[in-house]
Amino acid sequence: MFDKVLVANRGEVAVRIVRALRELDVKSVVVYSDVDRDTLAVKLADETVCIGPGPAAQSYLRVESIIGAASSKGAQAIHPGYGFLAENAAFARVVADNDLVFIGPSPEAIEMMGDKNEARETMKRIGVPIVPGSDGPVTTPEEAAGFAEQVGYPVLIKASAGGGGKGMRVVESADQLASAFTAAKTEAAAAFTNDEVYLEKYLTRPRHIEIQILADTFGNTVHLCERDCSIQRRHQKLLEEAPSPALTPELRAQMGETALRAAREVSYTGAGTVEFLLDTDGRFYFMEMNTRVQVEHPVTEAITHTDLIKEQLRIAAGEPISFLDRVPLAPFGHAIEFRINAEDPDNNFWPSPGTIVGLTLPGGPGVRVDTHIYAGYSVPPTYDSLIAKLIVWGATRDEAIARGRRALGEFSIEGIKTTIPFHLKVLGEQDFVAGTVYTDFIETHVFA
Ligand code: ADP
Repeated sequence: MFDKVLVANRGEVAVRIVRALRELDVKSVVVYSDVDRDTLAVKLADETVCIGPGPAAQSYLRVESIIGAASSKGAQAIHPGYGFLAENAAFARVVADNDLVFIGPSPEAIEMMGDKNEARETMKRIGVPIVPGSDGPVTTPEEAAGFAEQVGYPVLIKASAGGGGKGMRVVESADQLASAFTAAKTEAAAAFTNDEVYLEKYLTRPRHIEIQILADTFGNTVHLCERDCSIQRRHQKLLEEAPSPALTPELRAQMGETALRAAREVSYTGAGTVEFLLDTDGRFYFMEMNTRVQVEHPVTEAITHTDLIKEQLRIAAGEPISFLDRVPLAPFGHAIEFRINAEDPDNNFWPSPGTIVGLTLPGGPGVRVDTHIYAGYSVPPTYDSLIAKLIVWGATRDEAIARGRRALGEFSIEGIKTTIPFHLKVLGEQDFVAGTVYTDFIETHVFA
């Protein structure tokens, strides 16, 4: 195992990684920007380095500062968390060029999966079902219209370099196509400095089902069951659960094997997630692969009794996956994650940064809170609004829901608005309790 690892991230995930490092007796170096001086990861770290001002481009995305910090502190490896540089193949290369270990897959695997269009081609080649889509990038509105006529509306314009729902536009009818095409391209150019887009058939009422995988350097590849992330607002996840109420053991095995086939094709190592859409007839389609740990990884940890961050560290250090004797894993009980964002759900989820004047965290059996906040902490307006994740586990889905209600009720964050009341509303919906949720759930229920 490593002696010292640099954490190239912030917020709750930085805390999560520091905790895993401490349990493995590895020293942590946390880098931070000016505005993150008071965050919990900085307080918990063994060593810290300020790498610049608040804007991410001048700190968390600044490769030379991060490499410089790792070298000056004598770290052997860099954990990128999620977001920022986590899926940046060029960064992974620079890390390796500096004789450091990038805790993640190879730059080649990141590249192959990072371009969604290319990833679709790869999947098609190995017989993994993909959503019907344009053959490669679409460059003109006329070409887009041609595809849409062929598969029928609605269609979805997607950025090849996409992520976080950016550069994505649903088009319901021909008259909206040209303006949506331009808008998607402009948004993609701004977000990813790459305006390439392609088209997919827009599936109606799918579920978002993703498979967590791990692959070590000894050729062991395992899947850790699925997560159901169908509760989304504007294609962004808000609540995730595992296992999915929609999957049978047979479908789980089939999707799990498909995800592993995708991973093996790109010689994947480390933790990764293969995302699928599942239609109402039980057919599934590859959407993309995320080559990093995900925000919602704790629900998987809860139902498989694993620690994904420690597995990432072990794999990067050249050790095998630690639980091969338990494979194939079956889900044990049920877990739900609630993303607590500093946003006002009554005002269109408008960001609500500011000082937390009072904080009561929930606890008791089956309750986990991953957060970097504390009473007196000021949530800066500079970064994304995720301030905590509440994860509940129950022996059954009903128990997990009851525990979620109980824990959300105990959770009190004073001074700013949060998504806690929103989650309580979701748990109050009959369709959620019955497990019949699709990606349009929020539009059709909570705010209907
Ligand atoms: P991003 O990487 O930007 O988050 P994804 O490709 O992961 O984008 O898609 C995000 C969400 O958008 C999915 O979870 C799903 O709800 C919706 N989505 C994506 N592709 C389709 C599609 N072809 N049909 C219907 N919904 C889709």
